[in-house]
Parts: sequence; structure tokens; C-alpha cells
Amino acid sequence: MSRHSRKAKRFLADTNRATWHDETLWMVRNKRDRAAELVDEWEALRQQASDIKEQALENMPRYVREFKEAAILNGAIVMEAPDDVIMRGYIDTILRGNGALRVVKSKSMLTEECGLNEYLIKQGFNVVDTDLGECIMQLRKEPPSHIVLPAIHLRKEEIGETFHSHLGTEAGASDPTYLTQAARQYLRQQFLSAQAAITGVNFAVAETGTVVVCTNEGNADMGVHAAPIQIHCMSIEKIIPRTTDLGVFTRLLARSATGQAITTYTSHYRTPKAGGKMYIILVDNGRNERLYHPTSRNTLKCIKCGACMNTCPVYRRSGGHSYEQVIPGPIGSAIAPLRNFRKAAGLPFACSLCGSCTNICPVKINLHEQLYQWRQELNTYRATPLLRRIILKIAARVLSNNTYYRMAGSIGRFFLRHFPWLLKLPMWAWTNGRHLPQPARQTFQQWYARNASKQSK
Ligand code: SF4
Repeated sequence: MSRHSRKAKRFLADTNRATWHDETLWMVRNKRDRAAELVDEWEALRQQASDIKEQALENMPRYVREFKEAAILNGAIVMEAPDDVIMRGYIDTILRGNGALRVVKSKSMLTEECGLNEYLIKQGFNVVDTDLGECIMQLRKEPPSHIVLPAIHLRKEEIGETFHSHLGTEAGASDPTYLTQAARQYLRQQFLSAQAAITGVNFAVAETGTVVVCTNEGNADMGVHAAPIQIHCMSIEKIIPRTTDLGVFTRLLARSATGQAITTYTSHYRTPKAGGKMYIILVDNGRNERLYHPTSRNTLKCIKCGACMNTCPVYRRSGGHSYEQVIPGPIGSAIAPLRNFRKAAGLPFACSLCGSCTNICPVKINLHEQLYQWRQELNTYRATPLLRRIILKIAARVLSNNTYYRMAGSIGRFFLRHFPWLLKLPMWAWTNGRHLPQPARQTFQQWYARNASKQSK
């Protein structure tokens, strides 16, 4: 059993949680469908977005250069970090250099990927996540389980307990309005005392050097406006060529993520505010490797809407933490093997290959095809369990030979009829979790041979 399967099994043991997790995400998926149906040109928009990203990927070095030049002309300080270690080092230096010990942060999957919070806290900085979901997860010292809805796996009662322990709310209180107000009071103090604000970036426009940040809570804006130092962390694939491209993505992003027509706050940061400093950190951390990897290249088109998670039958029933990745779900499973193929070897095999993620993705990433491709690559690298490789070798022989196929069918039916418990042994994870059918009394071929001869008489 893979690591993912073991964790998914644990998640599913809490039937109540697993059911509403599944139903809630399916509701978000339905909201997305209704929002998309209202846009006549939806499919054309998806194609346009995919084409723009393709153009950006093909000319990545040029657009990175153009973006940097424009941002520097605007007055921003631009730094390039080839990996997470250098990125963390840059931020440490910026904060120390400006005497900023209190930091507020808005949601950024890149900073999660680079382990920024843990690092800064270890170095003595006070770092507070200000997105409500992220704030809950930070208080609980747990990673987010979804890229858009970080605390979607938690009940309101659990959040009430967390707030009671950390923010002093009433014991047993779980009313969402009461809890949100408590979070608001807590976060307001953090905003007002912060000396630096760190944000992620949704899009960066090469021709103007602008970074665009989308939030529903306005927390990135609160942080940037209140603190003298603003630091925007972005991975290089966030760059799009022109301002006119932006509308294509903002229309797709909010609808795909939550079914909203537009994200509540879409903020454009171009120049430092009076008396302030604006830093932009361009992070590679494996993107260039992905850019030249034939299977994974398209994952760089991702706009982090989370729609593939909401639609995925496996993600909805196994929960984000079962993936053990910063980015879970179909897109996470497609990215992870390139970073650590041994640890992530189980993820492409968890996929049902239903293709729902590919159909819903606003930038048309061929997710299920990539996962299928990864299965073959992982097998070639011998990263899959030996038993599975042996079984697949045998299956290939059986399925390509008519006589073996018929023999295997007879044996299988015999065991299924007389010893069904054998397939329920713990070692057979695949049959263990399934309801097995009663084998038919005769095969179609036997039936046909009998009836065809009767017909001809
Ligand atoms: S892969 Fe597509 S659907 Fe999934 S998060 Fe990225 S853009 Fe959204």
C-alpha cells in the first residue's frame, strides 16, 4: 500500500468528515460549472489562456528579462533566487537590513513550497499568515490541505477549539460569524504592528513590471498598505506577456476557483509607496527543469485555481493531507514525481484516469495524460513496488495472449466463486476496498458458442 493509500484510508475512517469533504468540494465544483456556463466564450477563453501561457513558456528568458527591466524602472528591487535556500536567505537579509521583525504574509503556495514560515520563525521573526484559512492552519501548526481553501477539511467546532486555545474565544463557541470576528480582531493588531508584508503573486506582467495579487479578504492589500516594506515572492511561470492578457486569466481564475464572477480584490502593485520599499523575488526552484521535461512542462501553465482538486473523485475522498505535498490533488501528483520520484511514486497510481481534471482545467493542462505518462516513467525507473512490477509483467503477457487470457479468466472465476475471501486479504489493497461481483455462470464466449450453434440448426 502506498503512503497516499495509507493516509487516505485514515481519512476515510472518519466517515462523517469524508462525506462532507466530498460533498462540499462537489458543491464548489457545481458553482464553477454554473459560473462557466454563463460565459458564452468559456471554451475559447480556456484555449486563449493556454496559448498565452504557451507563448510565455516558449519565451521564458525573454519575458523574465523584460519583467525585471520594467520592474526596476518602476523603482522595485528585483532579486532572482535559483532555489528555496537562496530565496529564504534573500528575505532574511531584506528583513534584517530594514529592521523588520514583525511580518504579515498573505497566501502564497510558493512560500509554503520554500518552507519560508518555518525558517523565518526559527530565525526569530514574528510571521503571521493573514488569509483566514491559512491563519487557522498556522495556529494549528498544520499545512494547508487545499490551495484555495486551506482549512476545508476542518469542522467549525475544531476551528472553535483552535481559536479558544490561541485567541481566547469562548470555550465551545463555533459560530462562524463569531469566530471570523475574533480572527479579524487578532489580524488587525498584526497588520497595524507589522514592519513588512510578504505576498504571493498571481500574475506578473512583463511589459509593465506589475505584479497582480488576487484575494477575497483584502489581506494582501492591508499588509502592503500598512507596512513600509513590501516583498512579493513569485515563481517565474507567473509572468504573462502583456496587460491585455490579464483579463483572460482573471475571468477564468475566480470562476474556476470558487464560482465567483471576479475575485473580490485584484490588486496591481507597480511602484513602492512613498517612503516605502518594494522587493520582488523571482524564484526558479526547479521551474527550469520542469520547462524542459517533456511530461511535466505543461504544469507550468497552472494558475492555482484548485478546480482540479474540487472535481477529482480521489482528492475529494482522500483529503489534501494524504498527498503529503504542498500542492495536492491532480496538479500536485503531476508535479511531485519530478521533485522526488521515490516519495511521490504512489501518487500517479492513485488517479482514476477519469479525465475530469483535464476537462475542467482553465488553462487546459493535460493532467490525466501526464499522470498516465508518469506511471510508465516510474515503472521504468523501478520506483514502483517490486510486487506491482511483477504483476504488471504477468498481466502484459496474459492480456496479449488469447489462450493465457482464457485460462486466467477461468482461474479467476473459480477463485471468485469458491474462495472470495482470498481477495480480501490485507495484501491485495485493490480488491480489498471493492465490492466484488458474483462471476457469471458462463462467459459470453461460452454462451455464444452454444447459442450460435442452436441458431444455425
Ligand atoms: S492544474 Fe488547472 S485546474 Fe488544477 S489548479 Fe492548476 S489551473 Fe487549476
